[in-house]
Amino acid sequence: MWWQEPVTKLKGIGPKKAADFANLNVFTIGDLLNRYPRTYVDQSKVKTIGELRTDGEKQLFRAEVYRVADRISARRMRYTLVTVTDGSGRFAEIYMFAHQRFQTRNYKPGVQLLIDGKVQPGRGGAKIVTDAYVQILKDNEEAAAPGILPVYALSGALTQQNLRTAVKAALAMAEDYLPESLPQDVIAAKKLPPRLEALKNIHFPESFAALAKARSRFVFEELFLLQCGLLYYRSKVKSGRSGIKMGVDGKILKSVLQSLPFKLTEAQQKAWQDISLDMQDIKPMHRLLQGDVGSGKTAVSALALAKAAENGYQGCIMVPTEILAQQHYETLQQFLQPAGISIGLLTSSVKGARRRELLEQLADGSLQVLVGTHALIQDDVVFDKLALVITDEQHRFGVEQRAKLANKSAFEPDVLVMTATPIPRTLALTVYGDLDVSIMKGMPPGRKSIKTLCYTGDKRREVYAGMVRQIQAGHQAYVVCAVIEQGEMPGVRAATDVYNELAKTFLKGIPCALLHGKMKPAEKEAIMEEFAAGKIKALISTTVIEVGVNVPNATLMIIENADRFGLAQLHQLRGRVGRGEAQSFCVLLTDSDAPETLARLNVLHTSNDGFYLAEQDLKLRGAGQLFGLRQHGLPDLYIADILQDTDVLIEARGLAKQALADKKITGEIEEALNAQFDERFKRIFNS
Ligand code: ADP
Ligand code: MG
Repeated sequence: MWWQEPVTKLKGIGPKKAADFANLNVFTIGDLLNRYPRTYVDQSKVKTIGELRTDGEKQLFRAEVYRVADRISARRMRYTLVTVTDGSGRFAEIYMFAHQRFQTRNYKPGVQLLIDGKVQPGRGGAKIVTDAYVQILKDNEEAAAPGILPVYALSGALTQQNLRTAVKAALAMAEDYLPESLPQDVIAAKKLPPRLEALKNIHFPESFAALAKARSRFVFEELFLLQCGLLYYRSKVKSGRSGIKMGVDGKILKSVLQSLPFKLTEAQQKAWQDISLDMQDIKPMHRLLQGDVGSGKTAVSALALAKAAENGYQGCIMVPTEILAQQHYETLQQFLQPAGISIGLLTSSVKGARRRELLEQLADGSLQVLVGTHALIQDDVVFDKLALVITDEQHRFGVEQRAKLANKSAFEPDVLVMTATPIPRTLALTVYGDLDVSIMKGMPPGRKSIKTLCYTGDKRREVYAGMVRQIQAGHQAYVVCAVIEQGEMPGVRAATDVYNELAKTFLKGIPCALLHGKMKPAEKEAIMEEFAAGKIKALISTTVIEVGVNVPNATLMIIENADRFGLAQLHQLRGRVGRGEAQSFCVLLTDSDAPETLARLNVLHTSNDGFYLAEQDLKLRGAGQLFGLRQHGLPDLYIADILQDTDVLIEARGLAKQALADKKITGEIEEALNAQFDERFKRIFNS
């Protein structure tokens, strides 16, 4: 089909331009049409000289040639000055340089011109026009305004004109054949413009009203097709399995609750009640547990795992990193082993005989709880009676990974997703489907608040000296950097460099270590263990320590180039300290003295509420940064806004459900669905 052809099939696009298009992620003619304009310029009206605004903006006007003169500029550049008039005593001077000068040969006084250029005030009331695109109008020809023109994202040597020409050519192909991508019923019910009409109007709008209609169609279409894709994908989750009904809390749960080193907070109790009731229902649990860093989600997950065990089933918990898996494993052992529940740890560094033994125990049901990383998804990991799947994540598991894990059960297991970052409802719907939500607000008692301070780089030495004092007082410290090695991000201090520097200066003679994501899991683990045991006093690391790590004796966290992180992420990092009795500190270092950067970082000083901070992040950095679909293995959206378009999404989801249930309807939009599944969903299906 024409839309699958490479852009080089279009006239005027060779390998060079194609490479520029590739930078925009445009490879096929279809891609080109799917890249909607960034904005538009209104050239629907041809102005007179008198009507021109002198604000440097591009405008379109008509005038006649008054005089043409070759000149040399102060910088010794030749240019041609074309003076034009509208016959009422108003003048404008068009500056034409280089190759533009050739076209002035035909500009005789009285010739009618249509000029599109940037207009500024000039001397003596004349207007100065630069960057002009000029066209001669034939005798008495009406100056047809080009209308509302699209402005596209550009790359390399591409110009707006290139894009406009290419899109026009592609639209001509669409004119011949373009299958509808929405079911006729939906188009009729929602009074949407047909696809071709909408496509023409989103690129070259007939009017602003037509543009608005086209936009709303594509927002709907994008969300509808995304939902079709997700629902289709979910239909691949083994269906026809029955849920599991568990009994009310019994002896084992009581024993676990008793052996917890603390009493559950009210928020934990409430969340546990929700989960417990879900698990007692035959309908599979599908719940999102949101709770700020340190709110005590682990204890709640332990109870759920204990409940599965108590009822004779198995439960597993998947976490994004090895370090976190190790910590959860230890915590869960502490919480669950006294009640006689068996727990295993599976990560990619568990190998050979140990792994074989673990898998055997898992398959024969003697192992009740399994903690691990992505390693849990591997094909040879087989459960006997898996009833509960928990993921503890920072948006790091894709739709597919979660489904793969859930497919490891002959039943339809209960699913609990835990997260420390509030997720906008639209994204939750998109990524997780219909989830029930439990929110844990507040912190367990006895938590000291963390003093957060922000300094510019010139205070760095004093901050480091403060670190040494903390260590001399018997505490430990983290120094977090945005990158591992120099050059990854210009001007950003790298963990490796900071480590080398500190080890020779401030931390000379003090046990310290470097920790980052490129190190071997065993190496990382060994270092984390030594840090947790208090042997290593300072840890210089990247954000690998972001999730979960719990070392109560660590009281100071220094974050280098703090401006490179989002507020929510800084808050998560900060959550690594303040876990013990002593007062803890978080020092944000930045080399930027831009007021807006300092103001942004200062929000952390004033607020300790992860939900509030995530909201601020959303406002300041936009949804893309924080909650990008990409992180979930989903395609980016071109036109819909994951935060704004909640209502449209919910409607699209309902209609997508209906459409997929009806063969006749899916037949109508088959080509669009196939294209969607082929191109946009390739990554999910084949990953
Ligand atoms: P997160 O929600 O970030 O996963 P954790 O489960 O790691 O939080 O809990 C953070 C800390 O709070 C842990 O040290 C844990 O032992 C402690 N904690 C959890 N629940 C309570 C409670 N009810 N009372 C006191 N301390 C608690
Ligand atoms: Mg946690």
